[in-house]
Amino acid sequence: MREFGYERAHDVAGAVALLGTDPGARLLGGGTNLVDLMKAGVERPSLLIDVRELPLDEVRFSPEDGLRIGATVTNSDLAAHPEVRRHYPALSQALLAGASGQLRNMATVGGNLLQRTRCGYFADLAKPCNKRAPGTGCPARAGDHRNHAILGASEHCVATHPSDMAVALAAFDAVVSYETADGPGDLPVEEFYLPVGDTPHIETALPAGAVITGVTLPPAPAAAHSRYRKVRERASYAFAIGSVAAALDVRDGVVRDVRLAFGAVASRPWRARIAERALTGGPADGTAFAAAAEAELAAARPLPENGYKVTLMRNLVVAELTRLTEEAAR
Ligand SMILES: Cc1cc2nc3c(=O)[nH]c(=O)nc-3n(C[C@H](O)[C@H](O)[C@H](O)COP(=O)(O)OP(=O)(O)OC[C@H]3O[C@@H](n4cnc5c(N)ncnc54)[C@H](O)[C@@H]3O)c2cc1C
Ligand code: SF4
Repeated sequence: MREFGYERAHDVAGAVALLGTDPGARLLGGGTNLVDLMKAGVERPSLLIDVRELPLDEVRFSPEDGLRIGATVTNSDLAAHPEVRRHYPALSQALLAGASGQLRNMATVGGNLLQRTRCGYFADLAKPCNKRAPGTGCPARAGDHRNHAILGASEHCVATHPSDMAVALAAFDAVVSYETADGPGDLPVEEFYLPVGDTPHIETALPAGAVITGVTLPPAPAAAHSRYRKVRERASYAFAIGSVAAALDVRDGVVRDVRLAFGAVASRPWRARIAERALTGGPADGTAFAAAAEAELAAARPLPENGYKVTLMRNLVVAELTRLTEEAAR
């Protein structure tokens, strides 16, 4: 491993200032992704700035303001938080579907948002990869792409975003807050992750030198009736090959409010707004759920080996919305 410096930041202003001292500096949350990539030689920071002791470890809920989550809250603590489980169950389920207990104890909200893709070529320095080394090519398109994107990809990259947590955040209109030397800023999750286009190496709209300070989920009554379902190749300790975060407010058989976001199908969490529009105000039944999913997935452009995801996602949407409808009827 190459040599690098290490500093621990004790307040946000200090972390921002340290970041400004060295263009090769990187923030260290739980280290569960960054350190792995350093071992592989993909990340080569000259300075690690440990943010784990920043005073950003609170979770607060109020009916007026919704849920405010500090950036250093661990994935375990967030999943177990009683207000999260009660008001945003899909968020808790998404977190618990990720990684393992040990990893969740280390992983932080800020780090989870910024974890890198699990495309095997990205972490393999012997292979070209436009995301890791811009302009070198994308071997996944003609190679192993079974788990890759079907929506919103480009000829330059077909990798998926691996975070389960971010899918639930996208469904609930979460906003990411950050601090830079020029002051604070906010980005809705849908604008936080950028479309892949011809710059797959630029994944987010987070300004250079920014420290993520937290995430806010606005009040959303439908979120209390929500589910996260993840399909993976093993029962645990595996990334999604398809997932859905779904919330439903249904009264007298009519959909009043619905939230849908897909995971593992695009370079970012995929908010299924076409399906949401198709469902709102209509009947809550399997025919409508299937039609809405198909309308959303009409834009899918699968590669030879990942067409199965279109059927998988359609079935996931129908199954989870049906289950939420049955729960509402009890
Ligand atoms: C074996 C294994 C299985 C996994 N399975 C899953 C899974 O199924 N689902 C899933 O969602 N995830 C999974 N993960 C990924 C895991 O959830 C992430 O590694 C973790 O969430 C990253 O958080 P961290 O705090 O450790 O980030 P770090 O590794 O510390 O950092 C990741 C990135 O975030 C940046 N960063 C950290 N904090 C901040 C901040 N406050 N502001 C700005 N930038 C910041 C870092 O500089 C770095 O670029 C798995 C990981 C492993 C190793
Ligand atoms: S899909 Fe993206 S991350 Fe994977 S090899 Fe292609 S460019 Fe690299």
